Amino acid sequence: MNGPGRLIVTAPPPQGRYGEFGGSFVPETVVPALQELEAAAVEALGDPRFLADFYGLEAGYAGRPTPLHHARRLSERAGRPVWLKREDLLHTGAHKLNNALGQLLLAKRMGKRRIVAETGAGQHGLATATACALLSMECVVYMGREDMRRQAVNVAKMNLLGARVEPVGDPAATLKDATSEAIRDWVTNVRDTHYVIGSVVGPHPYPWLVRTLQSVIGSEARAQMLELAGRLPEVVVASVGGGSNAIGIFAAFLEDSDVKLLGVEAGGRGPEPGAHGASLGLGTPGVLHGSRSYILQDPDGQVLPTHSISAGLDYPGVGPEHANLMATGRASYVALDDRQAVDAFHLLTRLEGIIPALESSHAVAAALRLTDGKGPILVCLSGRGDKDLETVLGREPA
Ligand SMILES: *Cc1c(COP(=O)(O)O)cnc(C)c1O
Repeated sequence: MNGPGRLIVTAPPPQGRYGEFGGSFVPETVVPALQELEAAAVEALGDPRFLADFYGLEAGYAGRPTPLHHARRLSERAGRPVWLKREDLLHTGAHKLNNALGQLLLAKRMGKRRIVAETGAGQHGLATATACALLSMECVVYMGREDMRRQAVNVAKMNLLGARVEPVGDPAATLKDATSEAIRDWVTNVRDTHYVIGSVVGPHPYPWLVRTLQSVIGSEARAQMLELAGRLPEVVVASVGGGSNAIGIFAAFLEDSDVKLLGVEAGGRGPEPGAHGASLGLGTPGVLHGSRSYILQDPDGQVLPTHSISAGLDYPGVGPEHANLMATGRASYVALDDRQAVDAFHLLTRLEGIIPALESSHAVAAALRLTDGKGPILVCLSGRGDKDLETVLGREPA
C-alpha cells in the first residue's frame, strides 16, 4: 500500500445526532465556538490542500500507513486467521496522534495559537504535546493528580516537549475531572484557543471530527485486508474507551453488512458500580461533557467512579455513535476484565513479539474468545505497552 489511507469524510450529522444520542448540551456561551469549529472543519476537510498537509504529516512524520500483520502464532491459538492493525507503530505509540495532528492543522488554519487538551493515561496529552512541538503551538494539558502519579513518564515527556501539564482536582482526580477543566479553560479563552479533545466524545462536532480523523485507520486496514488476505475480515475487534480507535477502524466497514463489528470495554474488577469502565454494557443513557450517550451514573445521575487496569479505558462515558451502533444492532459490545487483558498482554508478547498496550490487550482477549465462524479477525492494536510495564510486572500470566 502506497501512502496513508484516505479519510472517510462524511457530512456532519444534523445537530450532531446519532439516533437518539449525541447532540450538543453546552452553555450558550460555547455554542458559537462549536459552530465555528464545525464550519472550519467542513471547509478544511473539503480542501485538497488541507488533506495533502494531513497526509504528508501522517506519512512522513507519524509513519503511515501502519502495517497490517498476519499474526500466525496467535491465529493458531484462535483457530482462525488473526490480523493486527499496528497502530502501536505510529509515532508516540498509539493511534491518538492521527487526531492530534489533524486537529492541530485545523487549529492553525483557524488562526488559533494556543491548545488545551485533557488526558487520562497521558497518551492523548503526549500526542497533543508532540503535535504542538512540531507545529509550534502553545500547549496546556489538564491531567488528574492520580493519573499524573500513575503515568509519570508521560508527564515527563510532555514537559520535555514544552507542554505545561496542569494538575487537576483532588488526589483521586482522573480523566473526567481533567476533561471538565479543559472545557472550562477553552470556554474562557476561546478566541485564541482550540480544545483538542482526545476521543469521539464531547459535544458536536467533536465526535464527528475525531471519527473522521481516525477513519484513516479503517480505510487503510480495509485496503490492506483486501490486498494481503484477499478478503474482508469476518469480524473487526477494537477496544473502546471513548471509542475513537474503534470507530476509526469500524468506519470503513459500516457498509459491509457481512462484517461484524465488536467493541471491547473495560470489565475492570467486575460488574459492581465503580469497578469497571463498561459504559455501554452497564451504563444508562444520560448527558456527560455535552453529549448524550451511555454513561456510568448512579440512580440520581451522579457520575460513578470507574476502574480499569488500562487507564485509557476508564472514561465513564462513550462516544454517541457507538451508543447508536449498539441501539441499531450494527455493532456489539462486550466487556473483558483486568485479568483477561493481562493474560492477553502476555500471550501476544510471547506469541508474536509485540508488547501491546493494556487497552489493546482487551481487544486481543476478546478476539481469542470469539466462537462463531472461522473467517479472519481484524484486531485494532491501538497502542504499544511500554507505558504499562510497571502495571503488568508482578502480575504473572495465569
Ligand atoms: C486512549 C487509548 C485507547 C482508548 O481510547 P479510544 O478513544 O476508545 O480509542 C485505546 N488504546 C490506546 C492505546 C489508547 O491510548
